[in-house]
Amino acid sequence: MSTGGKLIIFSAPSGSGKTTIVRYLLEQPELNLAFSVSATSRSRRGKEKQGEHYYFMKLSEFKQHIKNDDFLEWEEVYRDNFYGTLKSEVERLWAEGKNVIFDIDVAGGLRIKKKFPKETLAVFVKPPSIDELKIRLKKRSTESDEKINMRIAKASVELATAPQFDKVIKNYDLEKALHEAHQMVADYIGVVPSFKKNEPKS
Ligand code: 5GP
Repeated sequence: MSTGGKLIIFSAPSGSGKTTIVRYLLEQPELNLAFSVSATSRSRRGKEKQGEHYYFMKLSEFKQHIKNDDFLEWEEVYRDNFYGTLKSEVERLWAEGKNVIFDIDVAGGLRIKKKFPKETLAVFVKPPSIDELKIRLKKRSTESDEKINMRIAKASVELATAPQFDKVIKNYDLEKALHEAHQMVADYIGVVPSFKKNEPKS
C-alpha cells in the first residue's frame, strides 16, 4: 500500500467515550479528517447505517475478504463478531487527500501503528473505572447483560495495553477530554487548532 495523509487511531474499551471524541474531531475542519468505516460481521444496532457506521456483511463474506488479504487488520473482537479495516477504505480516503481517523479496538489499533509507524498517532482513551464503564454500557442499553459482561471482561485486558500507545487521554470529564484530543491531533498533524469560543480549556 502506498501512503498518503496521517492515520489517527482512537482505541479504548467499549463505553470509554472514544466514539464521542472521534465524532467531535471529525467536526473540526482544520484537522481535515475522514472516518475509516470498518467492515463487521455483527448485526446492525439501532439507527446504524450501512456504509456510514460500518460495512455490515455476512460472516462468510467477511471470511472471504480475509482470504483475499483485503484487510489492513482484522479481529474477532467478540466471538463470531469480526471487525476489520479494509485496505481499500484507507486508500480511498488518502486519495481524497484526507487524514484518516479510526475508532477501533486496541489490538487493531496497535497493528496499524506497527504497519505505518511514521504516519500514525495512536491514542488510548481511558475510562474513569471499570465500574463507571459498566454504568455507561448499561445506560446505552442496546445489548443484553451477557454481551455487556463480555465487553467488561475484555475492557480489563485492554486497559493493560495503554502504555503501548503514543498518548493516553483520561476521559473523566468529557469536555476536557475533547479539548485535549483536539490539541493533540492538531499538534500531530501540524495545524493550529481553531478552538470554539465555548470550548473548555484543559
Ligand atoms: P461495536 O460493536 O461497539 O461497534 O464495536 C466493538 C469494538 O470493535 C469497539 O471497540 C470498536 O472500536 C471495535 N472495532 C470497530 N471497528 C474495528 C476494526 O475495523 N478493527 C478492529 N480491530 N476493531 C474494530
